[in-house]
Amino acid sequence: MIDKLSSILTDVKFIPGDRFCWSPKEQTISYLPDNTEEDGSWALLHESGHAALNHLVYTTDYELLRMEIEAWEKAKEIANKLNIQISEEHIQDCLDSYRDWLYSRSICPKCKVKTLQNDHQNVYSCFNCHACWQVSPSRFCRSYRSLKENDQVILI
Ligand SMILES: [Zn+2]
Ligand SMILES: [Zn+2]
Repeated sequence: MIDKLSSILTDVKFIPGDRFCWSPKEQTISYLPDNTEEDGSWALLHESGHAALNHLVYTTDYELLRMEIEAWEKAKEIANKLNIQISEEHIQDCLDSYRDWLYSRSICPKCKVKTLQNDHQNVYSCFNCHACWQVSPSRFCRSYRSLKENDQVILI
């Protein structure tokens, strides 16, 4: 599969790593070599989607979510070429986990009100109690952190 993807994405390097991740800076896709399950190939296709669209940076959570959706659309195109079917349910699950994560970042730690992100990346301020907080930089690979459970690598 890596061979086939390399022939489509000729400028991208595929390297074994500890998670599925697209790195725009290095122009590389890392992947979990041990994951030979269906969801592993889907994750690989998803990262290939980011790479094919050359997703570089985003400034807001909303933009990140949009790129995630676009990457899945592109992943489906690439999957078609390889005669692979990506489960629509899996895609929705991944996007939901992104939405949940973005939502939890936007809750004021002081008064628990839902707030909006500032124009600056990773900064939130609460309109209710005026608290300000920073969140860790979000990345494209967020939803593909790998977790080892009972010696099995699962994707979350
Ligand atoms: Zn607040
Ligand atoms: Zn992604």
